Amino acid sequence: MQRGCHTRKRILVTGGAGFIGSHLCERLLSDGHDILCVDNFYTGTRDNITHLLDHPHFELLRHDITFPLFVEVDEIYNLACPASPIHYQNDPVQTTKTSVHGSINMLGLAKRVHAKILLASTSEVYGDPAMHPQQESYWGHVNPIGPRACYDEGKRCAETLFFDYHRQHGLHIKVARIFNTYGPRMHPDDGRVVSNFIVQTLRGLPITIYGDGQQTRSFCYIDDMIEALVRLMNTSDDFTGPVNLGNPVEFTIYELAQHILRLVGSTADPIFHLLPEDDPRQRCPDITLAKKIMEWQPGIALDTGLKQTIDYFRNQFQFATD
Ligand code: NAD
Ligand code: UDP
Ligand code: UDP
Repeated sequence: MQRGCHTRKRILVTGGAGFIGSHLCERLLSDGHDILCVDNFYTGTRDNITHLLDHPHFELLRHDITFPLFVEVDEIYNLACPASPIHYQNDPVQTTKTSVHGSINMLGLAKRVHAKILLASTSEVYGDPAMHPQQESYWGHVNPIGPRACYDEGKRCAETLFFDYHRQHGLHIKVARIFNTYGPRMHPDDGRVVSNFIVQTLRGLPITIYGDGQQTRSFCYIDDMIEALVRLMNTSDDFTGPVNLGNPVEFTIYELAQHILRLVGSTADPIFHLLPEDDPRQRCPDITLAKKIMEWQPGIALDTGLKQTIDYFRNQFQFATD
């Protein structure tokens, strides 16, 4: 179904074959726009966008954004970057390059064609936060030389580049600080907590809790996040962000495990592993700014979103064993 759209725009989505990117491409197509999806398939898959390939307004380009890209577009959503700790630590130098060189290229492109450009930044810019919940004014507490630094510092530098292109060249920028987001099309093996716990439970394996499980995260369902990203892109030109996007309802990892076990109908006891180095103890967004500027707040409760995600993984596994 096509939503109301007065002006058809040509929109570039980098990382469009990934988890968030594929949902965003879908949404922007249904809003009536022309979509150019650029992805090097580092962590994304063709499967995520197969259903879009025949759409007359969808185009796919296999390309690594650390190399220059010359196309003509009106808007750019720059999402390309591995996002789970296992993936971004697999080739940390490439992770930093994607955030830094990739952002320079996308900003250079935006400058040449006068496109509005949005950065998918992250709550990881706050590191292991000393302020709770986190507000946009907090500068963060990041270890610059630890195993997570390629991601955290890469995104921090990307934010710097966005703001310098804005100040120096007058670019229209939007910086989203995305907090933990989950839903269908997460990778089953990317090591993130929601996909790990669901996959383990569906396979009859014990859930692996790192540390004592008392660390916290706030989980935003993908549909809420897509709505937020589109609203952010459409805020007035003088609004740059950064703006926190995420669900402010906070859970311990132990509580998350209990929710998933109950929804899948398992009584297996979790097992406990060592907490990874530099793992943030607590994370929860203050979304006052998003509420005020974008009139947005998440509407999908954890159990509702988890049920959809569990159904997705159940179907994937059924399909794989058929
Ligand atoms: P994902 O790994 O599913 O998607 C990232 C996509 O970028 C993949 O399709 C991958 O192949 C592509 N990519 C990676 N490097 C590239 C390169 N050099 N050139 C072209 N394409 C490249 O991850 P996601 O969860 O969909 O995350 C999307 C964006 O949102 C990322 O920038 C991530 O940092 C940000 N983010 C996500 C979360 C979350 O909870 N999912 C939280 C904070 C920020
Ligand atoms: N760039 C790109 N596509 C474009 C325009 C620029 O990929 O359409 C790249 C370009 O190769 C350069 C980067 O973006 O490496 C930054 O461009 P900018 O014009 O800001 O800087 P300069 O070219 O002066 O280094
Ligand atoms: N985690 C866990 N068991 C797992 C995977 C992750 O206990 O199987 C924990 C992890 O240590 C962290 C939290 O869950 O404290 C969220 O991890 P994730 O990798 O999903 O996201 P991030 O740390 O980037 O917020």
